[in-house]
Amino acid sequence: MEGLGYLLALPRFEYFSPKTVEEACSLLERYGREARLLAGGTDLLVAMKKGKEAPRYLIGIKALSDLDFIEYDGELLRIGALATLQSVADAPIIKEKFGLLATACKKVGTPQVRNMGTLVGNICNAGPSQDTVPSLLVLGARLKVVSSRGERIIPLEDFPRGPFKTALEDGEMVTEVQIPTPPPRSAGCYRWMTKRTEVDETLVGVAVLVVADPTHERCEEARIALCSVAPTPFRARRAEALLRGKGISEGLLEEAGRAAAEETRPRGRAEYRKLLTSILVKKALTEAWENLKGQEVVS
Ligand SMILES: Cc1cc2nc3c(=O)[nH]c(=O)nc-3n(C[C@H](O)[C@H](O)[C@H](O)COP(=O)(O)OP(=O)(O)OC[C@H]3O[C@@H](n4cnc5c(N)ncnc54)[C@H](O)[C@@H]3O)c2cc1C
Repeated sequence: MEGLGYLLALPRFEYFSPKTVEEACSLLERYGREARLLAGGTDLLVAMKKGKEAPRYLIGIKALSDLDFIEYDGELLRIGALATLQSVADAPIIKEKFGLLATACKKVGTPQVRNMGTLVGNICNAGPSQDTVPSLLVLGARLKVVSSRGERIIPLEDFPRGPFKTALEDGEMVTEVQIPTPPPRSAGCYRWMTKRTEVDETLVGVAVLVVADPTHERCEEARIALCSVAPTPFRARRAEALLRGKGISEGLLEEAGRAAAEETRPRGRAEYRKLLTSILVKKALTEAWENLKGQEVVS
């Protein structure tokens, strides 16, 4: 049945198509836990077909065209809740300044999935293996959340509250992701291994961002985030601390890889996932550091 899931019938539900964010929020408030927002549906409809979710009310947000944007003002990148994974992967400003996010979006599923699925849906699904989250974590992303009570900003790191659970309260929806420009003298990348084929779920995903000191000889700061190796994606802070202020050597990168692996809590294939984590972290750090060497030295 696994490969024929798309033939399964959806459970019954009532559908709404609000025309404004306010209307969407008031529907969410009215129906509470019995309602779900529907963006691209690439996670939610699949979960409903498999019987893992059975919301009585679906609130489709595709008509909220004001949320379909990607904007950059020179300091802050803002990506609206309706921007698809493909549009994020293709945006020239994202390829140029936030390349690891473009890579992560391009990794997700197939072209059909990327053209339907949204970046914000990927975040809000809050599964352990959401591919875009590690890159967003090392980029220091935050979420703009709106409800009838007003607006608030949630750092992405505080958003997942367990597998498929988020910090959203009743009546709240995410309207945009905000990402600050990466620091000067920084480079990052996203590397992963899938379960079987190229389009399979990620077995281990690793995003890194390294910042060089002004001489380009030492690592001023390193950020490392992982997915699929714990109940939620997370920053590997102990591995990051090992690199801070140090000259980069192969031995140090290996040590950081091992430290990151120790921070994981994989449920299945634990030994294999830990080994892959140490290899991918070292590989990603090496690649990012090599990319930095090509950049101009600022003294
Ligand atoms: C064949 C296939 C392959 C896939 N491969 C991958 C993969 O390799 N990597 C990966 O990470 N994912 C993968 N996915 C999962 C999926 O495509 C992504 O998670 C997608 O980005 C979800 O976005 P969506 O717009 O479709 O969300 P939806 O399915 O519409 O929603 C997902 C969840 O987010 C909530 N939500 C959506 N928008 C908002 C909002 N604005 N505010 C609050 N909550 C909201 C919904 O209520 C729901 O709970 C795959 C899916 C399929 C079907």
